[in-house]
Amino acid sequence: MPTMLEVADLGHTYPGKDGAHNAVDGLSFTVDAGELVCVVGPSGCGKSTLLRAIAGLITPTRGTVSLRGTRVDGVPSELAVVFQDYSRSLFPWLTVQRNVEFPLRGLPRSQRAARAREALASVGLDQAGRKHPGQLSGGMQQRVAIARALAYRPSLLLMDEPFASVDAQTRFELEDLLLRVRREQDTTVLLVTHDIDESVYLGDRVLVLTKSPASVVADLPVDLGDARDQIKTRASETFVDLRAKVAELLRGASHIEDAKLI
Ligand code: ADP
Repeated sequence: MPTMLEVADLGHTYPGKDGAHNAVDGLSFTVDAGELVCVVGPSGCGKSTLLRAIAGLITPTRGTVSLRGTRVDGVPSELAVVFQDYSRSLFPWLTVQRNVEFPLRGLPRSQRAARAREALASVGLDQAGRKHPGQLSGGMQQRVAIARALAYRPSLLLMDEPFASVDAQTRFELEDLLLRVRREQDTTVLLVTHDIDESVYLGDRVLVLTKSPASVVADLPVDLGDARDQIKTRASETFVDLRAKVAELLRGASHIEDAKLI
């Protein structure tokens, strides 16, 4: 598979009144086309900084990000992002259908409408197009945000803790929805989460980050096959072993950082 994303020796230092803050340092990895890669790391380790650099929202102070071999130096048009906070990412005054059509403004109206309807159907919201976001539950609003990203047909879908604000049952449903649509549409996904179980359940690979400044401590293949099931997969030996490994790596990473602080 061709490489979709390459992050090479990425580093970012934020300037500050109390001194510069090194958020990410020497971070390198690649994502192949069609892969779903999860990035897991402790809170504050630099995950959002990494995503912002990939999305071209900040210029990293060191290293490079390349999408299909082209260096990112602005917001790439081939990218879509789904954030945790669905209530702030949808326009409340627009209908669901118009929200999903919004990024497709360059297309003819009929094509725009057809693509939005198709995307809404793929997330099980074919009846909700005329509603407004405020009339939908949190889980349904996040489905709309996912449909909007999918309708755009991005080369790379970035997801920043996308299921962290919904209840546990809805979270399971949305995870399975993501697995289904990425398989149907062959989407490349980079998903950031602090939830170890979620990273193993969803990923083809899990990248484990150290505490701030973030770098990759492990790049683990997830040998669970394509057909995943919330009960059976999570109870399988492979899942339990991998989850323990990620947890140990995260704990180890924290210990190293704590030791430095002492
Ligand atoms: P995460 O997403 O893993 O929680 P972030 O990338 O948001 O981590 O932050 C990494 C570190 O960089 C944190 O210590 C945070 O306080 C710091 N940081 C994030 N954004 C800024 C900023 N704009 N200015 C200064 N420091 C920042």
